[in-house]
Amino acid sequence: MSNERIFNFGAGPAVLPYQVLAEAQRDLQSLPGVGMSVLEISHRSRTFGEIIESVVASIRTLAGVPDHYHVLFLQGGATQQFSMVPLNLLPPAGTADYVVTGAWAKKSVDEAGRFAAVRVAGSTEKENFTRVPESSELDLREDSSYVHVTSNNTIYGTQWRRMPAVGSVPLVVDASSDIFSRPIDISAHGLIYAGAQKNLGPAGVTLVVVRDDLVRRTNFPVTVPTMMRYSTYAESRSLQNTPPVFAIYMVGLVMKWLLTQGGLPAIAKHNECKAQKLYDAIDRTEFYRGTAQVQSRSLMNATFTLPTETLEARFLNGAADEGFVGLKGHRSVGGIRASIYNAFPENGIEALVQFMSEFERTKG
Ligand code: PMP
Repeated sequence: MSNERIFNFGAGPAVLPYQVLAEAQRDLQSLPGVGMSVLEISHRSRTFGEIIESVVASIRTLAGVPDHYHVLFLQGGATQQFSMVPLNLLPPAGTADYVVTGAWAKKSVDEAGRFAAVRVAGSTEKENFTRVPESSELDLREDSSYVHVTSNNTIYGTQWRRMPAVGSVPLVVDASSDIFSRPIDISAHGLIYAGAQKNLGPAGVTLVVVRDDLVRRTNFPVTVPTMMRYSTYAESRSLQNTPPVFAIYMVGLVMKWLLTQGGLPAIAKHNECKAQKLYDAIDRTEFYRGTAQVQSRSLMNATFTLPTETLEARFLNGAADEGFVGLKGHRSVGGIRASIYNAFPENGIEALVQFMSEFERTKG
């Protein structure tokens, strides 16, 4: 079988920059100057200490993370954050506002509801999550412990252009599927979390960027287990127990790659250009129909349908023959979804656009 790379449109774990894979491969048997693989060294070693500190430093530089925010590496995926956020930030008598814009947002509100009182401050479920709300549609309360928003809705292909205004209430964002795809004002957030497997690196590590005062909110009468407290990770610099060393090392390579691309402003421009090419192809005729409303379209996950499910099945088969994988829409919504995260190459989009036009002409 050929070892040529194909175009991976999967929603996650997703495509990684080729240069990063090549560098990881070069270093896999022996890190330069160390004589061992990163897979083999102690997380307590000086080498790993330097690696994790340099990954944190790259993230701070890339995103302009202020000093009073912690950059933490956790496990359990974004899903574990659905529990950790309320466990750490929501006192027993408090409430939190959740904006429900998709399946992951629903899961986050359901999980928080197991521990505490949560309010749905806005939802687009009645419109099948085809858009995100306007700030003016949200019913936010000033006495809320935090407002939870999902910045990009991976399944529905919608994304906030900018985060809603939340006043002085801490904004908590699940940024799993668009983190570091554009510049971010960290200081407008209380806490940001993301599973790594889309824009940061391989699966197995979760990034949390959290403001210092929120880390120290965990003083509720309930017993929050050690590994479920943000303070544990902040105090141990993410080294309370054995962290996912390889995944963290890989995140470091991806962050360096982003910095060499010109950082977040440059990657944002590139992402806009890539998404525009794909949406132009979707909009050119009536054959393909974008499922998200135009003003809410995601630059990370483009979702669309064809006139019939039979044509969609034929489209997916034909695409697979061309070496395009991962295009099937999420099982809960169907249709087609092209995930085009930071590392997805522009020539892959051009190839898909050409295939789309050919498919429309010949119907497979
Ligand atoms: N939130 C969003 C927006 C997601 O896209 C995903 C995964 N696709 C999750 C949460 C769940 O992430 P994990 O599998 O890391 O728990």
